[in-house]
Amino acid sequence: MLKETDVSSWQFFLESRSDLDADGTSKEAGSPEPISIRMWRPKPIAVCTRCGAVSYNANLINGQCAQLIAGKRCVGVNGSALNADDWKQCTACAGSGNRGAGRCGPCDGVGWLYVRR
Ligand SMILES: [Zn+2]
Ligand SMILES: [Zn+2]
Repeated sequence: MLKETDVSSWQFFLESRSDLDADGTSKEAGSPEPISIRMWRPKPIAVCTRCGAVSYNANLINGQCAQLIAGKRCVGVNGSALNADDWKQCTACAGSGNRGAGRCGPCDGVGWLYVRR
């Protein structure tokens, strides 16, 4: 369940790291030093009350969830989750959202776990 909004946010995040090659290939002559920069996903700011889909756009807070479930739009609402306590960085993937070649399961590729009760 990779969400479209998540993907665009992730790409934006990658593009903002202008010090890294976007495609990860560093074939240019120069420093052969391995890149050891940790990367993690941006923290979501809203979560759907019904399906748990996360959002990164403040304009979506308190709006209807945009997820499609079985062809129907989710009837949940994007509740704000702006507090630092609302999220815990996923330890399984160290916040990257990826494990090996696949998506991290515990956080569903988000890199963060919603922990507010
Ligand atoms: Zn939803
Ligand atoms: Zn994870």
